[in-house]
Amino acid sequence: MVKMHRILYIEDNRDNRVLVRRILLASDHPFEMLEAASAMEGIRIAREQKPDLILMDLSMPEVDGLTATRTLRAFPETQHIPVVALTANVMQADKTRTLAAGCSGYIGKPIDIDRFPQDILSYLRNGA
Ligand code: MN
Repeated sequence: MVKMHRILYIEDNRDNRVLVRRILLASDHPFEMLEAASAMEGIRIAREQKPDLILMDLSMPEVDGLTATRTLRAFPETQHIPVVALTANVMQADKTRTLAAGCSGYIGKPIDIDRFPQDILSYLRNGA
């Protein structure tokens, strides 16, 4: 049986969720998608489902992505899961702040469709 890579994407923008789901499900790799439209929903799903990797939008209303990442790092059941930030704003992705919050790295938007699945696989290999 093929080992599925379960990816949770936390993102308030529906179009981005649809795009990322399409890219990953169309790739040759066994990705399975979980999605959340807010940080709070994402944290709940992460704790319940324990995905293999979390893609985190940084800019979300109410609770932002870095706060959500720090929260995930505080729970024993989610602290080992790699969190990859997704952001259109390079300033916001400031590496120091992103890593300090507990992210494993970040991927810029717009997403490079050709290399995105491989990038995700590298983060899966490297861990949190
Ligand atoms: Mn957003």
